[in-house]
Amino acid sequence: MIVGIVKEPEEESRVAMLPEAVKTLKSWNVEVMVETGAGKKAFADDALYQESGAEIVDRSTLLQKVDIVCGIQALSIAEIRSMGPKSVLMGQFNALYNPELTHFLIHESRTAFSMELVPRTTRAQSMDVLSSMATVVGYKAVLMAANLLPRFFPMFMTAAGTITPSRVLILGAGVAGLQAIATAKRLGATVFAFDVRQAAKEEVMSLGAKFVEVEGATDDKSAGGYAVEQNEDFIHRQKEAIHEQATKADVVITTAQIPGKKAPLLIEERTVLAMKPGAVVIDLAASSGGNCALTQADQTVSINGVSIVGVGNLAAQLPQDASKMYGKNYLNFLKLIIKEGQMNLNFEDDIVSGTCVCHEGKPVNSRITQMIN
Ligand code: NAD
Repeated sequence: MIVGIVKEPEEESRVAMLPEAVKTLKSWNVEVMVETGAGKKAFADDALYQESGAEIVDRSTLLQKVDIVCGIQALSIAEIRSMGPKSVLMGQFNALYNPELTHFLIHESRTAFSMELVPRTTRAQSMDVLSSMATVVGYKAVLMAANLLPRFFPMFMTAAGTITPSRVLILGAGVAGLQAIATAKRLGATVFAFDVRQAAKEEVMSLGAKFVEVEGATDDKSAGGYAVEQNEDFIHRQKEAIHEQATKADVVITTAQIPGKKAPLLIEERTVLAMKPGAVVIDLAASSGGNCALTQADQTVSINGVSIVGVGNLAAQLPQDASKMYGKNYLNFLKLIIKEGQMNLNFEDDIVSGTCVCHEGKPVNSRITQMIN
């Protein structure tokens, strides 16, 4: 069988798998085709893929010949149509929020897997692209803030006086938030963090940050470790606590998300207007509505001297390691569906069925089935 690695669209600099992943696939008796220039922006040129045993081909040859098309961003509808009728499409299509594409895949009797659907279970951790990319994003968000901030992060005691450390506030202590805490601590900042899940408190404190307490959060243990929507009373108290903390902060990094819902609004306009001039807000929830009232997706705006960055695809700004992690997640998943060099789709396996959008046109993931009906 043949696995194909496609080149991503212009705005994406990651690649689904680096040459090191090709070597592993070859050791499983799998042939690999790579689209010309696929890894260029991740600093893996065609020659490196060839040395690892891949054949370099043009896009249309790849789409027609391979058994599994591996990418990150979605292909166009015309390109999916040009794939071999039995070939499998893999990527990160946000299938639950992209009904047009999902309906098309079903209508065309396709088999497709979407990596953001990988169940968030212990066994699936090594395939979890959401966690890998959140790690990249949390790290990079802090560096972005440090670049924009007109102050140092660490404390300095110099002959030219003492510089106090910057104060960083992280809202949402999931995978990205925890990585942002760790990175800001490494740079010497004083870090405060807030989350509605009680479980996050211990993790925040273990990284040396201070946890901002707001009593009375709804923490639904049945939500699989995710946050749930909060009641009005809590939202009001939370906004007051965040207002107090944000107006003392030099940097605020927001990461709060609720799966399937608009991101919660945590920073109101009045809070931004009361922040210190020169302060920086990095809003990692910009693509799902933003945690800050003044965020504009994919833009940096300046209000009263406060910079607000509506972050888009930040993982693409660290293409080499982001692609390395993505590729490792991909390989761990492919190991489940390739046996002895042949495709082996076992839908009894909850990771295989959970990640599958549709198999020969039939919806497989239960949330996709619900979305369709
Ligand atoms: P996420 O991206 O969905 O959300 C980011 C954070 O925002 C979460 O910590 C959430 O609690 C927080 N949040 C939501 N609403 C908020 C509000 N109003 N105020 C403040 N914070 C708010 O989350 P994530 O990073 O994907 O991880 C969520 C959980 O899933 C964590 O417990 C994580 O440990 C767990 N997880 C488990 C696995 C696994 O077992 N394989 C993998 C990844 C994540």
